[in-house]
Amino acid sequence: AKSEGRNLYRFFEPAMDATVQARRALEVDLETALPRHEFDLDFQPIMNIGSGGIVGAEALMRWHSPTRGTVAPDNFIPVAEETGLIVPLGEWALRKACVAAASWPSLRIAVNVSAVQLKSGGFPRSVISALAFSGVPASRLELEITETVLMDESETVLKTLRQLRGLGIRIALDDFGTGYSSLGYLRRFPVDKIKIDRSFIRDIGNRDTAAIVRTVIGLGAELGITVTAEGVETEMQFDFLRANGCVEAQGYLIGVPSKAADIQRLLKSRALH
Ligand code: C2E
Ligand code: CA
Ligand code: CA
Ligand code: CA
Repeated sequence: AKSEGRNLYRFFEPAMDATVQARRALEVDLETALPRHEFDLDFQPIMNIGSGGIVGAEALMRWHSPTRGTVAPDNFIPVAEETGLIVPLGEWALRKACVAAASWPSLRIAVNVSAVQLKSGGFPRSVISALAFSGVPASRLELEITETVLMDESETVLKTLRQLRGLGIRIALDDFGTGYSSLGYLRRFPVDKIKIDRSFIRDIGNRDTAAIVRTVIGLGAELGITVTAEGVETEMQFDFLRANGCVEAQGYLIGVPSKAADIQRLLKSRALH
């Protein structure tokens, strides 16, 4: 009976195996990608709508795999989170982003942080180390967290966020409006900025969506929280945001994610005007 069971299992094995093996192969490739220097950062400019100036840039991770080509972050960040690789990978990104920002006078640098990193204990230490290494002051660093970070209301996360803010680092709530308790989090957690998710900006032509965006902008103003609109692609969207007092805009209309040197060129060309 035992061997029969095994045969039955083996009968179903190949299909399951394919998924498991593909996933395992991705994990293995990811694991070796960091020491092989296959990761890179792009930077996307963030504009202050009132002044029209570039006030910051968000670091976005890129994986250039020799066998897979360029893999989008949505396809490897979740795997890196599950394997724990996001901890050294995130540390690398933080350091790399700060070093790039050191050559951009007065520009804020925004870095995405995973829940896994925040819960890993040594996170504040690695932030302090990246700032010291690059010479970038804490006031120029912004950490972007999603609501999933806040979902389990562990004391560790709250303590860590307070500690980071105590250093002068700003905390941004990413993809605002897509989670289960966006408003609740604003009440419980120290936040300096909210980034309205790009799904709202995309549908801003819809009356109800427009009302929501206007309300979030007003909410930010009342709470003293900077509001950034994500995924701004058209003049129409930009004009709506400006007319309604949104503080910052980010998206393809303002600039696509680019190499660090291109951001520097962009800043120079703007300074001439
Ligand atoms: P996110 O933090 O919400 O980043 C914004 C995403 O929107 C980026 O996708 C960016 O390229 C894209 N985007 C910017 N402007 C526009 C626009 O006008 N239209 C459209 N359609 N898209 C726009 P990307 O680079 O593929 O990153 C996807 C996600 O991967 C990020 O979403 C973030 O959650 C995650 N991610 C990226 N880099 C890192 C990282 O260093 N660490 C962690 N933990 N997550 C990262
Ligand atoms: Ca982000
Ligand atoms: Ca976002
Ligand atoms: Ca996102």
